[in-house]
Amino acid sequence: AAPTSTLRLDDWFARELPELALTWKALTAPDPRLLVLNEPLAEELGLDPAQLRTPEGVGLLLGTDVPADAHPVAQAYAGHQFGGYSPRLGDGRALLLGELTDREGRTRDLHLKGSGRTPFSRGGDGLAAVGPMLREYVVSEAMHALGIPTTRSLAVVATGGAVQRETVLPGAVLTRVASSHLRVGSFQYARATDDLDLLRRLADHAIARHHPAAADAAQPYLALFDAVVEAQASLVAQWMLVGFVHGVMNTDNVTISGETIDYGPCAFMDAYDPATVYSSIDSGGRYAYGNQPVLTQWNLARFAESLLPLLHDDQEQGVALAVASLERFTPAYAAARAAGLRRKLGLPEGLADDLVTGLGDELLVLFHAGRVDHTSGWRLLSAAARGDAEPLRGLVLDLPALDAWLERWRALGPDAEVMDRTNPVVVPRNHLVEEALEAATAGDLDPLADLLAAVTAPYDALPGRERYAEPAPVDFGDYQTFC
Ligand code: AMP
Ligand code: MG
Ligand code: MG
Repeated sequence: AAPTSTLRLDDWFARELPELALTWKALTAPDPRLLVLNEPLAEELGLDPAQLRTPEGVGLLLGTDVPADAHPVAQAYAGHQFGGYSPRLGDGRALLLGELTDREGRTRDLHLKGSGRTPFSRGGDGLAAVGPMLREYVVSEAMHALGIPTTRSLAVVATGGAVQRETVLPGAVLTRVASSHLRVGSFQYARATDDLDLLRRLADHAIARHHPAAADAAQPYLALFDAVVEAQASLVAQWMLVGFVHGVMNTDNVTISGETIDYGPCAFMDAYDPATVYSSIDSGGRYAYGNQPVLTQWNLARFAESLLPLLHDDQEQGVALAVASLERFTPAYAAARAAGLRRKLGLPEGLADDLVTGLGDELLVLFHAGRVDHTSGWRLLSAAARGDAEPLRGLVLDLPALDAWLERWRALGPDAEVMDRTNPVVVPRNHLVEEALEAATAGDLDPLADLLAAVTAPYDALPGRERYAEPAPVDFGDYQTFC
């Protein structure tokens, strides 16, 4: 049977929240060509990869051939972009096809990016180019392989149409999978309507989908907020530990599920520096690597504001509850980071968080001073745990300080095996991503396939993959990303 005749797509979101769901259709593609299909993810979703490769399957991936009872919608949301509030953003080039139930019984959104203009497009063309959609595919699948909560990428289909950017580029649609597309911006939009019933329905929907334990709490909406604070604190800690710079942490790009979303100008940091910014539009450095935790908390404060009417009848008391919950962000982040640093350093359980964090911070000071490649520096530390510190000593400038640090750390009995399962050999390095996207845009998909194979097995130091483990060549220069 073809995928569209057997697939059941629910419209849970659109049914419960019609005020946030505009019925819409995907744009027809002039000459579709499947560029990449995530077969393991297709199988996880209960979809047959072979069927998805047929014209009808590609039509499903493009949203132009959906099951008869499917109800695709553009979702409404608002958001703070670089600190300024926009009351109406929404899916300007995206559509929610519907929800499906995966093999494990989980609800997953099937979503499109680059599927044409919608009533939320404002000045935009509703389109996406091959390069950026493949970029989201590679980076999101790398994040998943690193164990970091994220939206997933099912496929990229080249449409055969043209997209006008600085030059004319080939167009594409990304088929994305997420546990939902509920964002802080969804709550801001609902709050701004002054429709308390809508806000409550949205919060109930979020609780049912993502934080069901909150339903049984004495104050379910406060428990929802607590759970999102916890999920986002853990998420940003994981970004920091692996050197991920999101690049556009606007409130419309902050999920209620705690999944990473919106891979536009993101990048993995090369040389360790908290001030690292890659995005061409982030001229003020608001979303610099080192700012990400505090910006997450800022975004959560905007979430709290939108939830206020549900927290308490008395606004002042609602604010007090929200502030108390928001204050838990800092210790939650510190605990998540300490747990991650403990594994990165290969240290045993039971050491005080302060000791672990102090050691990690001291090492990062040495990385910063020596402009040490973040991924390589951490990975070479396991060689040091095995007795060979020379590769790491080759990267760090202040060797007396490093040697003194290594002596204190070794005395704590680091476990190199744990470190090798924690510190990746391969992340989607900027120069390799650019190389693969450039080739793919010109029609050669081989570098992309090789890169995907490497980033989806990030802890394996496989022979033949050395170039995926190496820092950017010096002539790669300063890197800039565009969204
Ligand atoms: P982002 O910065 O990717 O989170 O996008 C912010 C807003 O701009 C969202 O409402 C997007 O739907 C919208 N947007 C981005 N690119 C386009 C485009 N090419 N056409 C229409 N809307 C767009
Ligand atoms: Mg976005
Ligand atoms: Mg984007």
